[in-house]
Amino acid sequence: MMRPADELPADIAIVGGGASGVLLAALLARKSGLRIVLIEHTSKPALGVAYSTRCRGHLLNVRASDMSALADEPDHFVNWLARDGGGLGRDDFAPRADYGRYLQDLLADSVQRSEGRLRVVTGEVTAIHDKAHGVELDIDGTRTLHAHRAVLATGHRPPSADHGAYHGNPWREDAIEGLAPEASILLIGTSLTMIDVLVSLMERGHTGPIVALSRRGLVPRFHPPAPIPSPDVDTRDLFAGSLSQRASRFRSRVRNGLGWAGLMQVLRPHNNELWHGLDLDQRRRFLRHLRPWWDIHRHRVAPHIGEIIEGAKARGQLSIVAAKIEIGHTTDRKVDVTIVRRGSSTREQCSFDRVIDCRGPRNEVDERLPLHAQMVTDGLLRADPLGQGLDVSDKEALMGRSGKPSRHLYVLGPPTRGRYTEIVAIPDIRLQAAEVAEHLVAQLLQSSGLVGGHTA
Ligand SMILES: Cc1cc2nc3c(=O)[nH]c(=O)nc-3n(C[C@H](O)[C@H](O)[C@H](O)COP(=O)(O)OP(=O)(O)OC[C@H]3O[C@@H](n4cnc5c(N)ncnc54)[C@H](O)[C@@H]3O)c2cc1C
Repeated sequence: MMRPADELPADIAIVGGGASGVLLAALLARKSGLRIVLIEHTSKPALGVAYSTRCRGHLLNVRASDMSALADEPDHFVNWLARDGGGLGRDDFAPRADYGRYLQDLLADSVQRSEGRLRVVTGEVTAIHDKAHGVELDIDGTRTLHAHRAVLATGHRPPSADHGAYHGNPWREDAIEGLAPEASILLIGTSLTMIDVLVSLMERGHTGPIVALSRRGLVPRFHPPAPIPSPDVDTRDLFAGSLSQRASRFRSRVRNGLGWAGLMQVLRPHNNELWHGLDLDQRRRFLRHLRPWWDIHRHRVAPHIGEIIEGAKARGQLSIVAAKIEIGHTTDRKVDVTIVRRGSSTREQCSFDRVIDCRGPRNEVDERLPLHAQMVTDGLLRADPLGQGLDVSDKEALMGRSGKPSRHLYVLGPPTRGRYTEIVAIPDIRLQAAEVAEHLVAQLLQSSGLVGGHTA
């Protein structure tokens, strides 16, 4: 028997209280008189996957000056750091755990300012039903919440499932628990998630061999020790022509002195324009052939993290390998693996004490999730054409089976990556949150009788 989550319906229900959900809730609480309910599955709202880490060595990969949660208050995080950041300043790469505290403070402050209009509910949204005047959300299969609009900010999922000594969730602390210091470890993936696990292992004093493996063996580059001024260059030629023409112009710019860091800096505000200038086939080819190169230059790590990687390589403890693998026999103590190095056909048989899947977060439709299964069955949700996330309109309205944008359902953050591709980092999500907030407020205040969030 379902019972109401509470007697009041919401104007906007936000499903998922990670960084994206909190950014949107904070904006709505500040800028509207609407009633907001933020529903978070875990008991720790605001942290999500990225900011729930307790490892102090996990640093933000963006300088503090660019990490404000609020697009129209650029120094919001820097000011927080000045009060609570233990001496860190605008050019520093703060621990992600500190950013988690910042988001928790932002949420608490937003709840307080809202004077009861923003509420946080703990529970899993297991179904959403589209009704004539809004939506009905099932929470934990036991409670119902009515809302005029719902925003899915459901974020990331781990790369795969656990099986014995194979760990599919690199963000759970048990991924590296119970390991002897000299144990042999295989990390699948050579990108940011691999680096997180490596840093955690180094912090624990791990001495055993670590192999990090991906098809190309590409590792993210490092930020320069100090911010570089943005070069003043004309990049219009990168926005026209075929994908291969653009890629070759890109490479010649890099070779002719601009360098990757400079080029990425100039292009950063225009990333979505670049993406939208590609047709579907070009986007597919970009994801297949160029994305790994783009990512290692676009998502660079703090200089100190770079030193940890280089140190582990120099000691011979860390090997970066370009190869394909097959996982073989797996027990609680060992995982057998077949490795075929890039450019070779030899099948090497190896065994590791632990294998950790570090291929990064997943955002695509997954019908093993109760919410996705129900929404796909009811025709409310479908995969984007690239299979990266959920299909959305240019206003972030969810597209269902009919191919028409929903009137009541919206999506925020990484699940919109099929449309926006660069929608993972905070500087991108906060802009999207501001657009979604503005759109929803305008829509709701225009619609019949809703004035200042209350039915007139
Ligand atoms: C490891 C890592 C490090 C990163 N580092 C940086 C960085 O340094 N700088 C930067 O700018 N960006 C960084 N990012 C990117 C960025 O900050 C994240 O992408 C962002 O935090 C996304 O937050 P989210 O709320 O969309 O997703 P998530 O963090 O995944 O949060 C989603 C939340 O929704 C909840 N949820 C899901 N389904 C339901 C449901 N049905 N009902 C109720 N609740 C539900 C989950 O419990 C979760 O708490 C990092 C990302 C990762 C993964």
